[in-house]
Amino acid sequence: MTTTAATGAADAFRLRAEQWLGRSVPERWKAERGALSEAEIDEIRLEWDRRLFRGGFAGISLPAEYGGQGLGLREEVAFHELAARAHAPEGFGRIGKILVAPALIADGTQAQRARYLPPILRGDHVWCQGFSEPGAGSDLASVSTVARAVPGGYLVRGQKVWTSFADKARKCLLLAKSDPEAPRYRNLTMFLVDMDQPGVTASPIRQISGASHFSEVFFENAFVAEEDRLGPEGEGWRVAMGVLNHERGAVEGVTRYVEMRGDLDRLIACCAGRAGTCSPVADFDTRLELVRWQISKTVAYQEDQARSAAAASVLKVTWSELWQEIAEYGLGAACPDHHAHWRNQYLETRATSIYSGSNEIQRNVIGDRILGLPR
Ligand SMILES: Cc1cc2nc3c(=O)[nH]c(=O)nc-3n(C[C@H](O)[C@H](O)[C@H](O)COP(=O)(O)OP(=O)(O)OC[C@H]3O[C@@H](n4cnc5c(N)ncnc54)[C@H](O)[C@@H]3O)c2cc1C
Repeated sequence: MTTTAATGAADAFRLRAEQWLGRSVPERWKAERGALSEAEIDEIRLEWDRRLFRGGFAGISLPAEYGGQGLGLREEVAFHELAARAHAPEGFGRIGKILVAPALIADGTQAQRARYLPPILRGDHVWCQGFSEPGAGSDLASVSTVARAVPGGYLVRGQKVWTSFADKARKCLLLAKSDPEAPRYRNLTMFLVDMDQPGVTASPIRQISGASHFSEVFFENAFVAEEDRLGPEGEGWRVAMGVLNHERGAVEGVTRYVEMRGDLDRLIACCAGRAGTCSPVADFDTRLELVRWQISKTVAYQEDQARSAAAASVLKVTWSELWQEIAEYGLGAACPDHHAHWRNQYLETRATSIYSGSNEIQRNVIGDRILGLPR
Protein backbone atom coordinates (compact mmCIF):
# COMPACT_ATOMS: atom_id res chain seq x y z
CA MET A 1 0.00 0.00 0.00
CA THR A 2 1.35 3.51 -0.81
CA THR A 3 1.81 5.98 2.05
CA THR A 4 -1.17 8.04 0.87
CA ALA A 5 -3.37 4.97 0.58
CA ALA A 6 -2.21 3.78 4.02
CA THR A 7 -2.99 7.18 5.55
CA GLY A 8 -6.41 7.16 3.89
CA ALA A 9 -7.15 3.67 5.23
CA ALA A 10 -5.97 4.67 8.74
CA ASP A 11 -8.17 7.79 8.65
CA ALA A 12 -11.17 5.76 7.46
CA PHE A 13 -10.61 3.26 10.30
CA ARG A 14 -10.42 6.04 12.89
CA LEU A 15 -13.57 7.66 11.56
CA ARG A 16 -15.48 4.37 11.63
CA ALA A 17 -14.23 3.64 15.15
CA GLU A 18 -15.07 7.13 16.40
CA GLN A 19 -18.59 6.97 15.02
CA TRP A 20 -19.15 3.49 16.45
CA LEU A 21 -17.85 4.49 19.88
CA GLY A 22 -20.02 7.59 19.81
CA ARG A 23 -23.17 5.51 19.57
CA SER A 24 -22.05 2.40 21.50
CA VAL A 25 -20.50 3.43 24.83
CA PRO A 26 -23.29 2.91 27.38
CA GLU A 27 -24.72 6.19 28.67
CA ARG A 28 -24.91 4.83 32.22
CA TRP A 29 -21.20 4.07 32.14
CA LYS A 30 -20.38 7.59 31.04
CA ALA A 31 -22.77 9.36 33.37
CA GLU A 32 -23.00 7.24 36.52
CA ARG A 33 -19.91 5.07 36.65
CA GLY A 34 -19.00 6.10 40.19
CA ALA A 35 -22.47 5.21 41.46
CA LEU A 36 -22.72 1.73 39.90
CA SER A 37 -22.54 -1.42 42.04
CA GLU A 38 -19.81 -4.02 41.38
CA ALA A 39 -22.44 -6.33 39.84
CA GLU A 40 -23.65 -3.57 37.48
CA ILE A 41 -20.07 -2.76 36.48
CA ASP A 42 -19.39 -6.45 35.76
CA GLU A 43 -22.50 -6.69 33.58
CA ILE A 44 -21.53 -3.62 31.55
CA ARG A 45 -17.99 -4.91 31.09
CA LEU A 46 -19.20 -8.35 29.94
CA GLU A 47 -21.67 -6.78 27.52
CA TRP A 48 -18.95 -4.45 26.21
CA ASP A 49 -16.93 -7.45 24.97
CA ARG A 50 -19.98 -8.64 23.02
CA ARG A 51 -20.59 -5.17 21.58
CA LEU A 52 -16.99 -4.92 20.43
CA PHE A 53 -17.46 -8.15 18.49
CA ARG A 54 -20.78 -7.11 16.95
CA GLY A 55 -19.25 -3.77 15.97
CA GLY A 56 -16.24 -5.42 14.27
CA PHE A 57 -13.72 -4.20 16.85
CA ALA A 58 -12.75 -7.46 18.58
CA GLY A 59 -9.29 -8.81 17.79
CA ILE A 60 -8.41 -5.80 15.65
CA SER A 61 -4.78 -6.88 15.16
CA LEU A 62 -5.46 -10.62 15.01
CA PRO A 63 -5.26 -12.22 11.56
CA ALA A 64 -8.56 -12.45 9.66
CA GLU A 65 -8.05 -16.19 9.12
CA TYR A 66 -8.40 -16.60 12.90
CA GLY A 67 -11.50 -14.43 13.15
CA GLY A 68 -9.72 -11.16 13.88
CA GLN A 69 -10.02 -7.95 11.89
CA GLY A 70 -6.69 -8.53 10.11
CA LEU A 71 -5.44 -5.02 10.81
CA GLY A 72 -2.23 -3.99 12.56
CA LEU A 73 -1.04 -3.07 16.02
CA ARG A 74 -1.33 0.61 15.02
CA GLU A 75 -5.08 0.25 14.46
CA GLU A 76 -5.44 -1.70 17.72
CA VAL A 77 -3.68 1.10 19.59
CA ALA A 78 -5.61 3.81 17.72
CA PHE A 79 -8.89 2.16 18.67
CA HIS A 80 -7.99 2.03 22.35
CA GLU A 81 -6.98 5.67 22.28
CA LEU A 82 -10.32 6.64 20.76
CA ALA A 83 -12.05 4.44 23.31
CA ALA A 84 -10.23 6.41 26.02
CA ARG A 85 -11.58 9.65 24.71
CA ALA A 86 -15.07 8.15 24.47
CA HIS A 87 -14.82 6.89 28.10
CA ALA A 88 -15.51 3.30 27.02
CA PRO A 89 -15.49 0.49 29.60
CA GLU A 90 -12.79 -2.16 29.63
CA GLY A 91 -14.14 -5.64 28.87
CA PHE A 92 -13.26 -8.88 30.63
CA GLY A 93 -11.87 -10.25 27.37
CA ARG A 94 -8.48 -8.65 27.98
CA ILE A 95 -6.58 -11.83 28.96
CA GLY A 96 -8.25 -13.87 26.22
CA LYS A 97 -7.58 -11.34 23.49
CA ILE A 98 -4.22 -9.90 24.51
CA LEU A 99 -2.52 -12.96 26.00
CA VAL A 100 -4.27 -16.20 25.06
CA ALA A 101 -5.15 -15.47 21.41
CA PRO A 102 -1.57 -14.61 20.35
CA ALA A 103 -0.30 -17.67 22.27
CA LEU A 104 -2.84 -19.88 20.44
CA ILE A 105 -1.77 -18.39 17.12
CA ALA A 106 1.93 -18.89 17.93
CA ASP A 107 1.81 -22.33 19.56
CA GLY A 108 -1.72 -23.74 19.28
CA THR A 109 -2.92 -26.55 17.06
CA GLN A 110 -5.53 -25.85 14.36
CA ALA A 111 -8.10 -27.61 16.54
CA GLN A 112 -7.25 -25.41 19.57
CA ARG A 113 -7.51 -22.24 17.50
CA ALA A 114 -10.82 -23.31 15.97
CA ARG A 115 -12.25 -24.21 19.36
CA TYR A 116 -11.04 -21.32 21.51
CA LEU A 117 -10.54 -18.22 19.36
CA PRO A 118 -14.18 -17.63 18.29
CA PRO A 119 -15.66 -17.54 21.84
CA ILE A 120 -12.79 -15.28 22.99
CA LEU A 121 -13.53 -12.82 20.20
CA ARG A 122 -17.31 -13.00 20.65
CA GLY A 123 -16.88 -12.13 24.33
CA ASP A 124 -18.49 -15.42 25.39
CA HIS A 125 -15.52 -16.93 27.25
CA VAL A 126 -13.53 -15.09 29.89
CA TRP A 127 -10.00 -16.46 30.43
CA CYS A 128 -7.60 -16.15 33.33
CA GLN A 129 -3.83 -16.45 33.51
CA GLY A 130 -2.60 -19.01 36.06
CA PHE A 131 1.09 -18.22 36.32
CA SER A 132 1.86 -16.71 39.77
CA GLU A 133 1.93 -18.83 42.91
CA PRO A 134 2.57 -18.03 46.57
CA GLY A 135 6.23 -19.02 46.08
CA ALA A 136 6.64 -17.99 42.43
CA GLY A 137 5.93 -14.43 41.27
CA SER A 138 9.01 -12.55 40.09
CA ASP A 139 10.80 -15.89 40.09
CA LEU A 140 8.21 -17.52 37.85
CA ALA A 141 10.39 -20.48 36.92
CA SER A 142 9.88 -21.77 40.49
CA VAL A 143 6.21 -22.71 39.94
CA SER A 144 5.39 -25.83 41.91
CA THR A 145 1.92 -26.66 40.58
CA VAL A 146 2.35 -30.11 39.10
CA ALA A 147 0.78 -31.64 35.97
CA ARG A 148 1.14 -35.43 36.17
CA ALA A 149 0.67 -37.43 32.97
CA VAL A 150 -2.22 -39.93 33.08
CA PRO A 151 -3.95 -41.79 30.21
CA GLY A 152 -5.49 -39.18 27.87
CA GLY A 153 -4.06 -36.15 29.64
CA TYR A 154 -2.77 -34.79 32.93
CA LEU A 155 -3.91 -34.31 36.52
CA VAL A 156 -3.12 -30.84 37.88
CA ARG A 157 -2.41 -30.26 41.55
CA GLY A 158 -1.30 -27.02 43.20
CA GLN A 159 -2.19 -23.43 43.97
CA LYS A 160 -2.14 -20.23 41.96
CA VAL A 161 -2.62 -16.75 43.38
CA TRP A 162 -3.49 -13.23 42.17
CA THR A 163 -5.36 -14.86 39.28
CA SER A 164 -7.35 -11.98 37.73
CA PHE A 165 -10.93 -12.77 36.63
CA ALA A 166 -10.59 -16.40 37.88
CA ASP A 167 -14.05 -16.36 39.44
CA LYS A 168 -15.58 -15.39 36.06
CA ALA A 169 -13.29 -17.44 33.84
CA ARG A 170 -14.29 -20.42 31.75
CA LYS A 171 -10.68 -21.35 30.98
CA CYS A 172 -7.24 -20.85 32.48
CA LEU A 173 -3.90 -20.52 30.70
CA LEU A 174 -1.92 -22.51 33.23
CA LEU A 175 1.82 -22.90 33.69
CA ALA A 176 2.71 -26.10 35.54
CA LYS A 177 5.65 -28.32 36.27
CA SER A 178 5.30 -31.42 34.11
CA ASP A 179 8.68 -33.07 34.75
CA PRO A 180 10.09 -32.88 38.28
CA GLU A 181 13.37 -34.42 37.09
CA ALA A 182 14.08 -32.01 34.21
CA PRO A 183 16.36 -28.98 34.73
CA ARG A 184 14.94 -25.53 35.54
CA TYR A 185 13.25 -23.85 32.53
CA ARG A 186 12.84 -27.21 30.78
CA ASN A 187 10.48 -28.74 33.32
CA LEU A 188 7.39 -26.61 32.59
CA THR A 189 4.44 -27.00 30.22
CA MET A 190 1.53 -24.68 29.32
CA PHE A 191 -2.07 -25.93 29.51
CA LEU A 192 -5.57 -24.74 28.64
CA VAL A 193 -7.52 -25.83 31.71
CA ASP A 194 -11.30 -25.93 32.21
CA MET A 195 -12.21 -23.86 35.28
CA ASP A 196 -15.66 -25.41 35.43
CA GLN A 197 -14.79 -28.85 36.86
CA PRO A 198 -14.85 -30.40 40.35
CA GLY A 199 -11.07 -30.20 40.97
CA VAL A 200 -10.89 -26.40 40.57
CA THR A 201 -11.80 -23.85 43.27
CA ALA A 202 -11.45 -20.11 42.74
CA SER A 203 -11.59 -18.19 45.96
CA PRO A 204 -11.82 -14.41 45.40
CA ILE A 205 -9.46 -12.19 47.40
CA ARG A 206 -11.05 -9.07 48.84
CA GLN A 207 -8.77 -6.10 48.15
CA ILE A 208 -8.14 -3.01 50.26
CA SER A 209 -10.46 -1.06 47.91
CA GLY A 210 -13.31 -3.49 48.69
CA ALA A 211 -13.31 -4.93 45.17
CA SER A 212 -12.31 -8.49 44.24
CA HIS A 213 -10.46 -8.54 40.93
CA PHE A 214 -8.46 -11.66 41.56
CA SER A 215 -8.54 -15.02 43.34
CA GLU A 216 -6.55 -17.81 44.82
CA VAL A 217 -7.12 -20.88 42.66
CA PHE A 218 -6.73 -24.42 43.97
CA PHE A 219 -6.28 -27.40 41.63
CA GLU A 220 -6.89 -30.77 43.23
CA ASN A 221 -6.36 -33.36 40.54
CA ALA A 222 -8.11 -31.25 37.93
CA PHE A 223 -8.06 -33.00 34.58
CA VAL A 224 -6.66 -31.47 31.43
CA ALA A 225 -6.83 -33.45 28.21
CA GLU A 226 -3.75 -34.12 26.11
CA GLU A 227 -5.23 -31.97 23.30
CA ASP A 228 -5.38 -29.02 25.70
CA ARG A 229 -1.64 -28.87 26.14
CA LEU A 230 -0.36 -25.67 24.49
CA GLY A 231 2.94 -26.42 22.77
CA PRO A 232 5.22 -29.38 23.44
CA GLU A 233 5.93 -30.78 26.90
CA GLY A 234 8.87 -28.99 28.53
CA GLU A 235 8.41 -25.79 26.48
CA GLY A 236 6.15 -23.96 28.92
CA TRP A 237 8.83 -21.43 29.83
CA ARG A 238 9.25 -20.35 26.19
CA VAL A 239 5.47 -20.10 25.71
CA ALA A 240 5.17 -18.12 28.98
CA MET A 241 7.85 -15.61 27.92
CA GLY A 242 5.91 -14.93 24.71
CA VAL A 243 2.77 -14.35 26.77
CA LEU A 244 4.57 -11.96 29.14
CA ASN A 245 5.90 -9.91 26.23
CA HIS A 246 2.30 -9.31 25.15
CA GLU A 247 1.28 -8.56 28.75
CA ARG A 248 3.56 -5.54 28.99
CA GLY A 249 3.21 -4.49 25.36
CA ALA A 250 1.50 -1.66 23.54
CA VAL A 251 -2.04 -3.06 23.71
CA GLU A 252 -1.87 -3.46 27.48
CA GLY A 253 -0.20 -0.03 27.76
CA VAL A 254 -2.87 1.67 25.73
CA THR A 255 -5.60 -0.04 27.77
CA ARG A 256 -4.08 1.58 30.85
CA TYR A 257 -3.79 4.85 28.96
CA VAL A 258 -7.55 4.58 28.39
CA GLU A 259 -8.21 4.51 32.10
CA MET A 260 -5.63 7.13 33.00
CA ARG A 261 -6.98 9.57 30.43
CA GLY A 262 -10.40 9.19 32.06
CA ASP A 263 -8.89 9.85 35.48
CA LEU A 264 -6.96 12.87 34.30
CA ASP A 265 -10.06 14.35 32.67
CA ARG A 266 -11.84 13.85 35.98
CA LEU A 267 -8.98 15.51 37.87
CA ILE A 268 -9.12 18.48 35.50
CA ALA A 269 -12.88 18.72 36.25
CA CYS A 270 -12.18 18.52 40.01
CA CYS A 271 -9.67 21.35 39.67
CA ALA A 272 -11.83 23.62 37.49
CA GLY A 273 -12.30 27.01 39.08
CA ARG A 274 -9.73 26.33 41.80
CA ALA A 275 -6.85 28.41 40.48
CA GLY A 276 -3.43 27.68 41.90
CA THR A 277 -4.33 24.49 43.73
CA CYS A 278 -3.74 22.02 40.93
CA SER A 279 -0.43 23.01 39.41
CA PRO A 280 0.80 19.41 38.75
CA VAL A 281 -2.14 18.69 36.44
CA ALA A 282 -0.41 20.16 33.39
CA ASP A 283 2.67 18.09 34.23
CA PHE A 284 0.52 14.94 34.50
CA ASP A 285 -1.05 15.77 31.14
CA THR A 286 2.37 16.09 29.49
CA ARG A 287 3.62 12.86 31.07
CA LEU A 288 0.48 11.04 30.01
CA GLU A 289 1.15 12.09 26.43
CA LEU A 290 4.69 10.77 26.90
CA VAL A 291 3.11 7.42 27.83
CA ARG A 292 1.29 7.58 24.51
CA TRP A 293 4.57 8.38 22.79
CA GLN A 294 6.23 5.39 24.47
CA ILE A 295 3.31 3.23 23.26
CA SER A 296 4.03 4.42 19.68
CA LYS A 297 7.68 3.52 20.18
CA THR A 298 6.76 0.02 21.32
CA VAL A 299 4.55 -0.32 18.23
CA ALA A 300 7.31 1.00 15.96
CA TYR A 301 9.69 -1.68 17.29
CA GLN A 302 7.18 -4.51 16.85
CA GLU A 303 9.35 -6.38 14.34
CA ASP A 304 12.34 -6.35 16.71
CA GLN A 305 11.40 -8.45 19.72
CA ALA A 306 14.32 -7.41 21.96
CA ARG A 307 13.81 -3.68 21.37
CA SER A 308 10.04 -3.84 21.72
CA ALA A 309 10.37 -5.83 24.99
CA ALA A 310 12.82 -3.23 26.34
CA ALA A 311 10.50 -0.38 25.28
CA ALA A 312 7.62 -2.22 26.95
CA SER A 313 9.53 -2.33 30.27
CA VAL A 314 10.00 1.47 30.13
CA LEU A 315 6.32 1.85 29.21
CA LYS A 316 5.20 -0.30 32.14
CA VAL A 317 7.25 1.64 34.72
CA THR A 318 6.17 4.99 33.24
CA TRP A 319 2.42 4.46 33.16
CA SER A 320 2.15 2.60 36.46
CA GLU A 321 3.94 5.23 38.52
CA LEU A 322 2.21 8.15 36.81
CA TRP A 323 -1.19 6.59 37.53
CA GLN A 324 -0.29 6.20 41.20
CA GLU A 325 0.67 9.89 41.33
CA ILE A 326 -2.53 11.01 39.58
CA ALA A 327 -4.65 8.98 41.99
CA GLU A 328 -2.79 10.25 45.03
CA TYR A 329 -3.15 13.83 43.85
CA GLY A 330 -6.83 13.26 43.09
CA LEU A 331 -7.41 12.02 46.61
CA GLY A 332 -5.56 15.02 48.04
CA ALA A 333 -7.59 17.44 45.91
CA ALA A 334 -10.53 16.68 48.24
CA CYS A 335 -13.14 17.23 45.53
CA PRO A 336 -16.56 16.82 47.18
CA ASP A 337 -18.09 15.35 43.99
CA HIS A 338 -15.43 12.70 43.30
CA HIS A 339 -13.95 11.80 46.67
CA ALA A 340 -15.22 8.19 46.56
CA HIS A 341 -13.74 7.75 43.08
CA TRP A 342 -10.32 9.02 44.13
CA ARG A 343 -10.31 6.96 47.29
CA ASN A 344 -11.00 3.87 45.19
CA GLN A 345 -8.38 4.77 42.55
CA TYR A 346 -5.78 5.56 45.19
CA LEU A 347 -6.23 2.09 46.67
CA GLU A 348 -6.56 0.30 43.30
CA THR A 349 -3.41 1.83 41.82
CA ARG A 350 -1.23 0.48 44.63
CA ALA A 351 -1.16 -2.71 42.53
CA THR A 352 0.00 -1.14 39.24
CA SER A 353 3.68 -1.25 40.16
CA ILE A 354 3.35 -4.96 41.05
CA TYR A 355 1.31 -6.64 38.32
CA SER A 356 2.58 -7.48 34.82
CA GLY A 357 6.04 -7.87 36.40
CA SER A 358 6.96 -5.62 39.33
CA ASN A 359 8.66 -2.27 38.66
CA GLU A 360 11.81 -3.39 40.51
CA ILE A 361 12.11 -6.25 38.03
CA GLN A 362 11.42 -3.91 35.09
CA ARG A 363 14.14 -1.57 36.36
CA ASN A 364 16.52 -4.54 36.45
CA VAL A 365 15.58 -5.20 32.80
CA ILE A 366 16.09 -1.54 31.85
CA GLY A 367 19.46 -1.40 33.65
CA ASP A 368 20.59 -4.63 32.09
CA ARG A 369 19.22 -4.59 28.55
CA ILE A 370 18.87 -0.89 27.72
CA LEU A 371 21.54 0.86 29.76
CA GLY A 372 23.95 -2.09 29.77
CA LEU A 373 24.83 -1.49 33.43
CA PRO A 374 27.15 -3.97 35.10
CA ARG A 375 25.44 -6.53 37.34
C1 LIG B 1 -3.69 -6.73 40.73
C2 LIG B 1 -2.83 -7.90 40.37
C3 LIG B 1 -3.26 -8.76 39.39
C4 LIG B 1 -2.50 -9.87 39.06
N1 LIG B 1 -2.97 -10.74 38.12
C5 LIG B 1 -2.29 -11.87 37.87
C6 LIG B 1 -2.84 -12.86 37.00
O1 LIG B 1 -3.93 -12.69 36.45
N2 LIG B 1 -2.15 -14.00 36.80
C7 LIG B 1 -0.93 -14.22 37.40
O2 LIG B 1 -0.35 -15.26 37.15
N3 LIG B 1 -0.37 -13.31 38.23
C8 LIG B 1 -1.04 -12.15 38.50
N4 LIG B 1 -0.50 -11.22 39.36
C9 LIG B 1 0.74 -11.53 40.06
C10 LIG B 1 1.94 -10.68 39.66
O3 LIG B 1 2.44 -11.08 38.41
C11 LIG B 1 2.98 -10.83 40.78
O4 LIG B 1 2.43 -10.22 41.96
C12 LIG B 1 4.29 -10.17 40.45
O5 LIG B 1 4.95 -10.84 39.42
C13 LIG B 1 5.23 -10.13 41.69
O6 LIG B 1 5.33 -11.40 42.27
P1 LIG B 1 5.08 -11.61 43.84
O7 LIG B 1 3.79 -10.94 44.21
O8 LIG B 1 5.21 -13.06 44.13
O9 LIG B 1 6.23 -10.80 44.57
P2 LIG B 1 7.72 -11.32 44.79
O10 LIG B 1 8.25 -11.91 43.54
O11 LIG B 1 7.75 -12.13 46.03
O12 LIG B 1 8.45 -9.95 45.06
C14 LIG B 1 8.33 -9.21 46.28
C15 LIG B 1 9.10 -7.91 46.12
O13 LIG B 1 10.48 -8.20 45.90
C16 LIG B 1 10.92 -7.58 44.70
N5 LIG B 1 11.86 -8.45 43.99
C17 LIG B 1 11.73 -9.78 43.75
N6 LIG B 1 12.78 -10.24 43.05
C18 LIG B 1 13.61 -9.18 42.83
C19 LIG B 1 14.84 -8.99 42.14
N7 LIG B 1 15.45 -10.00 41.53
N8 LIG B 1 15.38 -7.74 42.10
C20 LIG B 1 14.75 -6.68 42.71
N9 LIG B 1 13.57 -6.80 43.38
C21 LIG B 1 13.01 -8.02 43.43
C22 LIG B 1 9.67 -7.41 43.86
O14 LIG B 1 9.79 -6.36 42.92
C23 LIG B 1 8.62 -7.08 44.94
O15 LIG B 1 8.68 -5.72 45.27
C24 LIG B 1 -1.24 -10.09 39.71
C25 LIG B 1 -0.80 -9.21 40.69
C26 LIG B 1 -1.58 -8.13 41.05
C27 LIG B 1 -1.09 -7.21 42.13
